[in-house]
Amino acid sequence: MRKLIKKIVPRFVLTIYQDYRSKKRSELYAGNGVFCPLCNSNFKEFAPFGSTKRENAQCPKCGSLERHRLLWKYLNEKTNLFNDTKVRLLHFAPEKSFYDVFSKSQNIEYVPCDLYPKKYTYNGKVKTIKVDITKIPFEENFFDVVLCNHVLEHILDDRLAMSELYRVMKKGAWGIFQVPIDYERDNTYEDSSISTPKEREEAFGQSDHVRIYGKDYKNRLEEVGFNVKEDDYINSFSSDELFKFGLMKSELIYYCRK
Ligand SMILES: [Zn+2]
Repeated sequence: MRKLIKKIVPRFVLTIYQDYRSKKRSELYAGNGVFCPLCNSNFKEFAPFGSTKRENAQCPKCGSLERHRLLWKYLNEKTNLFNDTKVRLLHFAPEKSFYDVFSKSQNIEYVPCDLYPKKYTYNGKVKTIKVDITKIPFEENFFDVVLCNHVLEHILDDRLAMSELYRVMKKGAWGIFQVPIDYERDNTYEDSSISTPKEREEAFGQSDHVRIYGKDYKNRLEEVGFNVKEDDYINSFSSDELFKFGLMKSELIYYCRK
């Protein structure tokens, strides 16, 4: 249905509608209990989100979720992305709230990309380009930073994808490659004979996921050459701060250096 609406409604009408909806939702959640660092806005709380409705999850204004806000704070506090140094950034499956900032940053040479770039109808001067993550159309040692979040769990040959990420990064470049992980599992669960959306939903929890990563996710990244830091940055927040920024207690950040 969403796809159909996107096809038949002109983009400027969609944008007006989205702006109107975001304004209405912001009014509904007016208050000072939480703060979204992506759109710099206060609300009484974040909106519930997800099939099982997580409380305090989605920003009423910019739509950011817990993982986006965690990553945002991490990028600001722990990396050089917003220093004045020039960085060439490759960004897979670019989230809108990140796109809006990266595409306007003076120091970032921004390359947003996806296998299906038409999905990204963002109003910005930088176009999202088509990139197959298992065959990235850039030369080696090209990017200073790569962001690739919640993508690898969809890719059949994720090891090939990881080696491609490694190849296009400069020596010393860093990337963040978040995926959903079941920390109850030592080993990643995958089975290529499970191939229909229905079977995948039952086996992997989502119709377009092809595995459930376990604690060995880090090893896979290391096998292609990355130096991986599983950063428990989330533990630096007090419980009041976890609520204030709407963060989930469990997420480790996978900071990977070439
Ligand atoms: Zn926001």
